[in-house]
Amino acid sequence: AYILERRLFDKSLAIEAARAGADIRVNTYANGLIRAQKQIKGVQVRSNGKDYRILADVVVGADGVESKIGRMAGIDTKLRPQDIDICAQYLMCGLDGDIDEHQSGFYLGGEVAPGGYAWVFPKGNGCANIGLGIRGNVSREGHRAADYLKRFVQRNFSMGSVITEMYGAVPVSGPLYDAVAEGLILVGDAARHVDPSTGGGILYAIQAGIIAGEVIAEAKEENDFSKSNLLKYEKRWKQSFGKELKKKMKITNFIQSLSDEELNAIAYSLPSEIEIVLFY
Ligand SMILES: Cc1cc2nc3c(=O)[nH]c(=O)nc-3n(C[C@H](O)[C@H](O)[C@H](O)COP(=O)(O)OP(=O)(O)OC[C@H]3O[C@@H](n4cnc5c(N)ncnc54)[C@H](O)[C@@H]3O)c2cc1C
Repeated sequence: AYILERRLFDKSLAIEAARAGADIRVNTYANGLIRAQKQIKGVQVRSNGKDYRILADVVVGADGVESKIGRMAGIDTKLRPQDIDICAQYLMCGLDGDIDEHQSGFYLGGEVAPGGYAWVFPKGNGCANIGLGIRGNVSREGHRAADYLKRFVQRNFSMGSVITEMYGAVPVSGPLYDAVAEGLILVGDAARHVDPSTGGGILYAIQAGIIAGEVIAEAKEENDFSKSNLLKYEKRWKQSFGKELKKKMKITNFIQSLSDEELNAIAYSLPSEIEIVLFY
């Protein structure tokens, strides 16, 4: 796996986009779609207290989980609690000796992270991202992702210091709808392009973004921004990583069906270079 410095990574993508000619607008929130008959023709935005209209042949909704842009376009992006992983993550430092700098850690089980898993991703110099995700339908008072993470860290990494905290949600239902409308394409979490077994969506967001760009460039040449033409995007992302997502959905459903004892038994049958540590 690759460990990213996410803020720097996103910033570097924005810099590359600007260099390639993109007009980047910060502090700008899209709060409506512009339509001409059924065709989407742009977005209404609020930027630094002022309202603007931005016209576009195609709007790309990259607005994350339960995409509001998608919903405005008539796509039902709302998730059921069991289709969401609620995540909590700390950046911790002062972990020298507590973590292996060259090994990622994954922790499964009902005590650690019911319906999900906990992770330890080393970041170098005794620091690591330590986090977990739990299924939305098991989250309740005293058993929220933040509570599980606090307990996990207290038991296993109490010598470290929390530098930053981060909370969020990831769609883990797999893609259930066409992420396309008349003049609109959804990418990333908005399209539910997320590996349900890990909650990882960065790679798919980038792959789908590239495919969306190619399809929109072709649509521009053809001067056809209809849904039926943009559906090429659906076909191509499915060719690219659709099978992989389906396979991972099956693996996830299988893992979800296992008891903690069965998970331990599987872990012990893994190759010996994978280190197994029981925490509870
Ligand atoms: C704690 C946590 C840890 C994770 N760890 C990993 C990991 O290790 N590896 C991995 O691959 N994935 C990980 N993920 C998942 C990953 O973050 C997402 O899959 C990925 O960020 C999806 O990218 P995106 O661009 O689709 O959406 P996002 O990254 O959610 O970006 C959406 C953006 O749209 C903006 N936005 C929303 N609405 C509007 C609007 N109306 N107008 C303007 N802007 C708007 C938001 O502010 C946000 O900046 C993690 C998620 C969480 C919560």
